[in-house]
Amino acid sequence: MTARILDGRAIAAGLRARLAERVAALPFRPGLRVVRVGEDPASGVYVRNKDKAAREAGFDSSTIHLPADTTEAALLATIAVLNADPAVDGILVQLPLPPQIRVEAAIAAVDPAKDVDGFHPLNAGRLAAGQPGLVPCTPRGVMHILAEAGVALAGARAVVLGRSQIVGRPMAQLLLAADCTVTIAHSRTRDLPAECRRAEILVAAVGRPAMVRGDWIAPGAVVVDVGINRGADGRLVGDVAFAEALPVAGAITPVPGGVGPMTIACLLENTLDAAIARRGAA
Ligand code: NDP
Repeated sequence: MTARILDGRAIAAGLRARLAERVAALPFRPGLRVVRVGEDPASGVYVRNKDKAAREAGFDSSTIHLPADTTEAALLATIAVLNADPAVDGILVQLPLPPQIRVEAAIAAVDPAKDVDGFHPLNAGRLAAGQPGLVPCTPRGVMHILAEAGVALAGARAVVLGRSQIVGRPMAQLLLAADCTVTIAHSRTRDLPAECRRAEILVAAVGRPAMVRGDWIAPGAVVVDVGINRGADGRLVGDVAFAEALPVAGAITPVPGGVGPMTIACLLENTLDAAIARRGAA
């Protein structure tokens, strides 16, 4: 058996097209502002890609690029202006931030109603409490992939490898909300391979190249590889040993071309949701 490849590029393109249609039907253009501080080169690429995808889908998108020596107070003042701007529906502070700025302070400064990254403690709390709110983009993208793949979630044993605020925890919450039986594994988990082998749905978000081996995977399991790691040869590799997983898994997301493209599409989806919630247009 060879696993079905879950094509995140195609799923993301479909989602972006549906969002563009919904945006075109609105009496206003949803506004997205990305705040970038400093010159982190990877951030530069991400921010450009976000801006391009947003504009192509009809959003009013722009980037505010602040110098690397920006103080925390100056960044918070910029965020406050965006919070107060009625044309702005979504605010994203691109991470990483320079060391003089506390990430938690920047995240907490964003109006929760405009927090399209879903990182604000209020939105994280809402998710944990099972209440509606803005949800982090990458886990939201994984849920789209599982839905498009027709994976039955209710009652399924799901294992999430990783417990970060950005991926692992919200991922586990979303799977729980979809009635999976969820295990969260991490660096202190005893016998990780055995935990993973119990999974009917395995989501890997650890940031360790090819850590999940073929014999960690139950035959027929759905494997979602969130990891984006740079291999020794410079190529992108996931957290799952893809070639080993392929003959065992029932379905698997590739890296690149799996979860990655979904993250930006879901940023746009969050921005549209935030715009409709704020402005009351359906
Ligand atoms: P973090 O470093 O914040 O979290 C990694 C998690 O993995 C932690 O919970 C850590 O456990 C756990 N972990 C690390 N090493 C091991 C190990 N050897 N065994 C078991 N668990 C381990 O990473 P992120 O969650 O931010 O990102 C994870 C991966 O996903 C990265 O490769 C990142 O690049 C990628 N990513 C991809 C995105 C996309 O768009 N596709 C978006 C965001 C991230 P502990 O808590 O115990 O330390």
